[in-house]
Amino acid sequence: MDLADGPQRATLTTVKIPDEARQRHAELAKEIQRHDRLYYQEASPEISDQDYDRLYRELVDLEARFPDLSGPDSPTRRVGGAPLLEFTSVRHAVPMMSLDNTYSETDLREFFRRITERLPGEQMTYVIEPKVDGVAISLRYERGHLVTAATRGDGVTGDDVTANARTIRSLPLRIGTSAEVLEFRGEVYMSRAEFDRINAQREADGLPLFANPRNSTAGSLKLLDPREVAKRRLSVVLYGHGEVRGTNIGSHTELLAVFCELGLPGPRQVWQCHSPDEALAAIAKLDHDRHGFPFDTDGAVIKVDRFDQRQRLGSTAKAPRWAIAYKYSAEQAETILRAITLQVGRTGVLTPVAELAPVKLAGTTVTRATLHNFSELARKDIRVGDTVIVEKAGEIIPAVIAPVPEKRPPNTTPYHPPDRCPICPGGGDLVREDVFLRCTNSGCPAQLKRRILHFAGRNAMDIEGLGEALVEQLADQGLVRGLPDIFALDASRLAALERMGEKSARNLVAAIAASRDRGLERLLFGLGILHVGETAARDIARRFRTIDTLQSATADELQSVEGIGEIVAQSIRTWFNDSASQAMLRDLARAGVSMEATAPRPQEGASSLAGMTIVITGTLSKPRDEFEERIRALGGKVASSVSKKTAFVLAGDEAGSKLEKARQLGIPVHSEKAFEELVAGG
Ligand code: AMP
Ligand code: ZN
Repeated sequence: MDLADGPQRATLTTVKIPDEARQRHAELAKEIQRHDRLYYQEASPEISDQDYDRLYRELVDLEARFPDLSGPDSPTRRVGGAPLLEFTSVRHAVPMMSLDNTYSETDLREFFRRITERLPGEQMTYVIEPKVDGVAISLRYERGHLVTAATRGDGVTGDDVTANARTIRSLPLRIGTSAEVLEFRGEVYMSRAEFDRINAQREADGLPLFANPRNSTAGSLKLLDPREVAKRRLSVVLYGHGEVRGTNIGSHTELLAVFCELGLPGPRQVWQCHSPDEALAAIAKLDHDRHGFPFDTDGAVIKVDRFDQRQRLGSTAKAPRWAIAYKYSAEQAETILRAITLQVGRTGVLTPVAELAPVKLAGTTVTRATLHNFSELARKDIRVGDTVIVEKAGEIIPAVIAPVPEKRPPNTTPYHPPDRCPICPGGGDLVREDVFLRCTNSGCPAQLKRRILHFAGRNAMDIEGLGEALVEQLADQGLVRGLPDIFALDASRLAALERMGEKSARNLVAAIAASRDRGLERLLFGLGILHVGETAARDIARRFRTIDTLQSATADELQSVEGIGEIVAQSIRTWFNDSASQAMLRDLARAGVSMEATAPRPQEGASSLAGMTIVITGTLSKPRDEFEERIRALGGKVASSVSKKTAFVLAGDEAGSKLEKARQLGIPVHSEKAFEELVAGG
């Protein structure tokens, strides 16, 4: 315990919590949980983000006043403390089994036939539900408290991922039951929208992309820092049970009713069927409906409803006899893998690419597909010469799913990842970064081309006409060896290049010239510093304003910018400390590239809020984030709760508990008008 906290805590904890406060806290916690579920699970929020924030802030305020209210189950305590060093393993009270699965209707009919054979003359009810494509999880509640979340692992023991699972907003940390043990099984997954959001961000940050939502769910659950996991909005659906003590659940239908009653996220759709034909009809209906789901499903799961019947049917070594997964086939095709080539990205990450015998797929002819990364490649043992299954889903780039082992020709050999960069003359050194390989040579030609394209990109320096084909030529002919060379290109040189006329050469030169004034925001993004995406670049540029100030900023100063964490700050420091970066900046400056932020400076004469922490409460005449933005632009910080460090509270109409807290602590309170006068320097 922090000693400095001692006396203050002691006085606070002796404050008796009034019944209304306790009641309001319980109410708020429950409301927030409900809205979390509506928002994160059902994607149908009932209230605006602002109203949600209001509820949340009220809860935070209440807990600030009565710290005893903020038990471990409070919605404010989803994101735990320090990162873990590693996951501990957990033994499952009841093993987590896998599922038999099939693509064929014949197998499915066989599944039903075997069941009636084993349970002759019995009335059967089957339940059909979506097979969500994610990562299996076991959630253990003891007397209503979520105590453990574990991955399947080998089925007997898994990883303890409790801290990570707690960040899933649709998952209650507390349920209203007195049952001794309720262990539920389910699937953690990521919605397609969230997957796209994360990949877009990763793309902007120059990080390798996740292959699909399942992949990114698995990656997220394995992060050791729950704060990072919280940034990826994972979801969960429950569809089964493990150990149950202190209550009775007799069937799947009853289990679903329990989910409903306890506010736990259950399957999106469930059918009850009494015959194989009915089941097949439901499976077909689900195949239709699932395209409207906001998450990926890859099949239907068919289960016997009654648990006593399940018990009598038993299991094989691997999977229960009372359930089966029917997988829907995606748009897939078989073709020959002719070669595996390598692509090197802007930050040097190597991606293996499949060169295929042309094949028709989802309306297009496919000749190349991604193999994602080397660990996927090794895991699936995909070999050159193999017949492979290629899949294309929607807008997603085609991917090799698996080899067809029966069709493997003799004399194939396992694929070996390169140990040197295939593009660098002489081969750049590679380093392994979790599942990825990265070329570390800063002069790597492949990286140079990607970097130029990024620099010229629409959201960076926006140089129209500087596209892929041209960059290839410029780099290969040695006309551009680094970003500054772009500004030395002249029209006659350019006009001599392939597919360049005089007119387009002149246009390009003009576009390059115009890009000099884009400002530090875009320049910083265009430099392609690892982890520095568009938003980070903008926020940092606006805070430090010139490249010189930025260059001399410490990691701590960088981290004081809202949204900039340790990783980004470190990455920026490393980049600026590199002498090659410094030389490049000098050359860019010499070429006339602006190194100053363009965003309006704080108003002339406006007084600074530098170093002040300000809390906003109540309703103001304009959206709250506008005020937050202005406060930050003037060098201030915005906090969500009032403390002794608060410089003043900006209070609008209907300000609540924060105002009270400010009065208690003797902190100044300003109306909107007073605030305007203050910042106007009056
Ligand atoms: P697979 O991993 O392809 O063998 O499929 C089996 C896995 O599907 C199970 O272990 C679960 O993790 C997952 N799954 C997804 N949805 C369901 C569901 N509704 N019922 C049972 N398992 C499901
Ligand atoms: Zn290289």
